[in-house]
Amino acid sequence: MTSTAPKHHKAKALKPGSVPPAKELCSQCGLCDTYYIHYVKEACAFINQQIPGLETESHGRARDLENENELYFGTHQQMMAARKLEPIEGAQWTGIVSAIAIEMLTQGKVEGVVCVQNTPEDRFQPMPVIARTPEEILAARVNKPTLSPNLSILEQVEQSRMKRLLAIGVGCQIQALRAVEKELGLEKLYVLGTPCVDNVTRAGLQKFLETTSRSPETVVHYEFMQDFRVHFKHEDGSTETVPFFGLKTNQLKDVFAPSCMTCFDYVNSLADLVVGYMGAPFGWQWIVVRNDTGQEMLDLAMEQIETQPVMSKGDRRQAVQQSIPAYDQGVTLPMWAAKLMGVVIEKIGPKGLEYARFSIDSHFTRNYLYMKRNYPEKLEQHVPEFAKKIVGQYQLPED
Ligand code: FAD
Ligand code: SF4
Repeated sequence: MTSTAPKHHKAKALKPGSVPPAKELCSQCGLCDTYYIHYVKEACAFINQQIPGLETESHGRARDLENENELYFGTHQQMMAARKLEPIEGAQWTGIVSAIAIEMLTQGKVEGVVCVQNTPEDRFQPMPVIARTPEEILAARVNKPTLSPNLSILEQVEQSRMKRLLAIGVGCQIQALRAVEKELGLEKLYVLGTPCVDNVTRAGLQKFLETTSRSPETVVHYEFMQDFRVHFKHEDGSTETVPFFGLKTNQLKDVFAPSCMTCFDYVNSLADLVVGYMGAPFGWQWIVVRNDTGQEMLDLAMEQIETQPVMSKGDRRQAVQQSIPAYDQGVTLPMWAAKLMGVVIEKIGPKGLEYARFSIDSHFTRNYLYMKRNYPEKLEQHVPEFAKKIVGQYQLPED
């Protein structure tokens, strides 16, 4: 008798401590902790960049490179700024992600939600779960600002015989998930993504907190916000802000994971619906609906949110061009100058979608240089055409 079991059932997950297939570029997305490691050569975002092909499979078409909004923000039907009328206490922003996930579950669209809670001992240590109750979804609210093996629960999905699933995740996790989607035995997969940039290992996070915050051990939450400051929230409810331009770039250069230094999927191109903040005015979240499935998810939360059209103000280009050599040389401004620059740039600097383009341009130029220096042999295949076009607008230092 011949077995009809899928081929991946015979594959062996990576043993703890062994070198992952993407080596130092591994973002610990979790795929290799499962028998889906069988597909790693095609699926891994850092071995086989395949964003345009997967955009077409997921959304029906790849992004239009001639349309500036699609070039930057990926395939989409609409974008908006939004916030919850009643914010969820303890969420990263106003809790739109958790609210949509709860509606998806309670309205019976899905049987489970892939999300990431933290371990009981450490508020920043990620613990991926398949949530099956609203309480379990709420327990996953707020960012765990570290690399998180969300896909490590994929074997449990198949074993549970679940047919309808919502997965929440960042770009590298979602790229690998899309690549193995057909192997999961699902009737319907919904994907709710967040943008992601400059992620770190748990040890890297500690270094970031220690070099940047006045009280690293009491930080419960932080975010790089649209006012060009990092906002830290402490256990006692107080807020601390540090201007981007005052970050100790020379010490922080090696903190970001190599995977994040080679990532060009800041906006989570393959999710059905993306919820972030960078394209919205300060205090608001930013929503990108990529396809009909994304619209179906957003519709479930419309009564809980207020919205406004996206806006765009200012011109980022000069600021990006000037930041390229400054970052490259690890320049750190004295704190008084950094604060002053923060105030000036907040007044006259890019806002809304232009702020998002500022952030994308700054990270893509930095990452392109990093790749060119460290992985020149991968540059051509790994950098998607849209990113080459974005980087091509700037003058990069010659080596
Ligand atoms: P909540 O309701 O608080 O829910 C947060 C959700 O995020 C939870 O469902 C949880 O499962 C999931 N999550 C938490 N940590 C992780 C993780 N490590 N990996 C995968 N999923 C996770 N937005 C921007 O616009 N620009 C950015 O540069 C940016 N960087 C980010 C970096 C990281 C590491 C993460 C996780 C998110 C980032 N975001 C960024 C998204 C943004 O910070 C908010 O997460 C998003 O706006 C949702 O807010 P919320 O209040 O609706 O989420
Ligand atoms: Fe495996 Fe994910 Fe690491 Fe790639 S990034 S090697 S798919 S765990």
